[in-house]
Formats: sequence, C-alpha cells, structure tokens
Amino acid sequence: MSSLRLENCRLIATMDDTGRELVDASVEIRDGWITALGQESGNGEVDQVIDARNLIAIPGLVNTHHHLYQILTRGFPESEGKTLFPWLRSLYPVWAGLDEQMIFASTRTGLAELALSGCTTSSDHLYVFPDGSQSFMDAQVEAAQSVGLRFHATRGSMDLGMEDGGLPPNSVVQSLDTILRDSERVIDLYHDPTPGAMTRIGLAPCSPFSATPELMRETAVLAREKGVLLHTHIAETMDEDAYSRETFGLSPVELLESVGWAAPDVWVAHCVHPSDSDIELLRNRDVAVAHCPTSNMLLGSGLAPVSSYRAGNIRVGLGVDGSASNDANDLRQEMKQALLVARVRDGAGALSARDALRLGTRGGASCLGRDDIGIIDVGKVADIALFDADSLALAGSQEDLIAGIVLAGPRPVTVIVNGEFVVKDGNLVRVDHADIARLHNDAACRLMTRARDAMN
Ligand SMILES: [Zn+2]
Repeated sequence: MSSLRLENCRLIATMDDTGRELVDASVEIRDGWITALGQESGNGEVDQVIDARNLIAIPGLVNTHHHLYQILTRGFPESEGKTLFPWLRSLYPVWAGLDEQMIFASTRTGLAELALSGCTTSSDHLYVFPDGSQSFMDAQVEAAQSVGLRFHATRGSMDLGMEDGGLPPNSVVQSLDTILRDSERVIDLYHDPTPGAMTRIGLAPCSPFSATPELMRETAVLAREKGVLLHTHIAETMDEDAYSRETFGLSPVELLESVGWAAPDVWVAHCVHPSDSDIELLRNRDVAVAHCPTSNMLLGSGLAPVSSYRAGNIRVGLGVDGSASNDANDLRQEMKQALLVARVRDGAGALSARDALRLGTRGGASCLGRDDIGIIDVGKVADIALFDADSLALAGSQEDLIAGIVLAGPRPVTVIVNGEFVVKDGNLVRVDHADIARLHNDAACRLMTRARDAMN
C-alpha cells in the first residue's frame, strides 16, 4: 500500500454533517484511508505529492441501482418508446441468452464508464439467471476488481415465470432452493463486512411481478442470518401498483411490509408512486430509496417524490439504473437529473446543487449501509473525485464551483478509490478502454445472434 498527499486543493467539498467546504486544504492518504485533512495537514512524509491548487475534490459518487448486463442491449430498438411491462417483455427473451463472458464484459464496461464519471462505489442488481449461469456473480466480482471500483453486487432472483402469472419467461426463473443455495455461496465467498470493504454482497429478488412472496420472505431470512442488505424494485409504475392491488390487495409498499421487508436493512429502487401512508411506512421503518430519475423519465414511469422523502428524513441515494433504460453509465448526469426532476415536480427551490451532490455521495452511502464512504474526512476511506477548476466546462463557474460540477457537467480528471488511482488525466488506469469496448461489442453481437436464432 502507499501514501499520497493532495496538496493545497483549490476546494474540498467534504459532504460531512455540517457541509464543510475547505479552501487551499490538503488531504493525506495512507493505505487507503484519509489520515489528515485541512490546512495543517501538509507536512507528513508520503510516497507521492500531487499539486492540487487547481483541483476541486468531492467524495467519490455512489451508485445505488444498476443492471450492468443491460449495457449489452443499450438502445435496443424493439424496446424503444415502451413502458416498463412491455419494455421488459421485449427484452427478457434476449437476456435469456446471457453467458458468463457477457456478464464479465458488461460489468467491466459499466464500471469503467461509472469511474470516468466520478463514481467510486457501485452496486449492481443481477437477476437474470438462465441455464449455465452458475458463475455469473463470480464473473462480476472479477470484473469489478479489474477496474478497481468498490462493488456491492446483489444476487438477484426471479421465481415467478410467465406460466405462473409472472412477467419473465420460465427459462430465466429459478427454483427457491437454487436461488438460496447460490445466494449463500456468494455471500460466504465474497461478502466482506469490515470497514473499508471493497466487495460486499446483497440479496435482491427482482420485483413483485417476478418474485413470489415466499421468495421475498425466505431471502430476507437468509440475508438477516448472514448480515447482508436486501434490495428490490418497488412502486416503479402505475402498472405495478395495479398488479399489486389486484393480486395481493395491497400497494407495492404494503406488500413489501407483508413479506418482512419494511426494515432498515432494505433499500428499494424507484418508489415513484407511493401514497402518503406508504411514505409514512418507509419513514417509520427506515427503508432507503434509490432514486433513478433518468430511467423513470425514459420509461415514462413518473417523477419520484424525493422532496417528500427528504422532508421525512428518508435515506435517498441515486442510481443510473440499467443501461437499457438510461442508457448512460454516468452519475454526474443523475445528480443534475435529480435536481431537474425535483424542480419540475416541486418548484425551483426543491433541490439545490449541493443537495444533489449529497444525494450522490452521502445519500448513496447510507443506502448501502456504509459510513466509511461518500465523505472526505479523517478516518474515512480515500474515495475521491478531482475536477480541474480551469477546465472548459467550469469556465464561468468560479463563483460556485460545486454548482458548476453538478450543473455544467465537467468530467473528473482524477478518480481515487481506496487510495489508488483508477482514473488519471481523464483516462482509466488499470484497464484499456478500447479493449473493454471490443470485448463488450463482441459479447453484445453474440447475444443478439443468439436471440435471433432462438426466435427463428
Ligand atoms: Zn432497475
């Protein structure tokens, strides 16, 4: 391990509880941890010193919802212009052809792009497990390690196929027993509960229309036995609301409660259509929300009531969601989209640039149950994105460089994860982007060929 000092940063947005912003201050990093911060922290012996006079430091962004495999079907023409249910029906038969190499290639692509957008920690929700998928989770962990991002992989699942009234074809659903066995395997193999962990595992049945209540209940029992978090989609569309009320006589959020999921160890994606009593339930039970504004707009799902969540002290983070419903892997965009959605919905004062940055950093960290990321402070891990104050995109933002980062959309020049460089001079350090794209395009072509063969 190594030591490093970012000397005399132009500005450091710490995102600590008081929102401290430090001018001409230094950050000292040792063995992946921040060991000193401020104007007096520029003296210790370190391996490397970076002159940061023109740099703005923010905590690395935290992505709380994704389906990395969907990058293989970015901009898929047959799903264009559809709402969630028909959109899924057009894509499930294609995803049924996924193999391990495709999972590896797409995980690498997504995490590389996220790194280039200033993201240092990403979760993923992989829930399609066709025949031959035994090592999908292993391939994801390997891909994340190669890029260098902190990774929360969630072992997703579906057990309610079309033949039983669910949405996905039966070829991509698994039995309860298979799901629980593989979930236990990947937790035992990869989950690191210690502070500073680079890899954690969560469990994540897909949604009320593809997972049975029994799967939800049994998954929660296993997750709590193993001490890992739970994740799922909830209240994404009005179609889902109607399905839940017709099938179970409950709103999606009430359904969540009925299967033992209304708890602080749960973070849910979307939550676009909760009733007032649903919001109250989320608040009382401390359920966290992954807000995915671009996805919600692309599929015409609606605008999530983030102002109400924030007013109720409900934990909210940001997610890019799968690349078939975004289609970018860019958390900077998501901060701006969150700001725009909040203002369209609740007025110009609804969400400030700093509020949006907080959602993308501390908010995401709280969704993932972590207090060691999403903040620049002594005793936290060194996950930092650095922006060039003299860049073209920030020209004219000198009065408020933080607003500039959120609104003007500069790319970070340097991204540090666990004290190590993942992006330097705007380029990936550990992996070659052309190599990633080539392997990914090969995998995507193979997937489409497979899908066409299966349809003929
Ligand atoms: Zn999703």
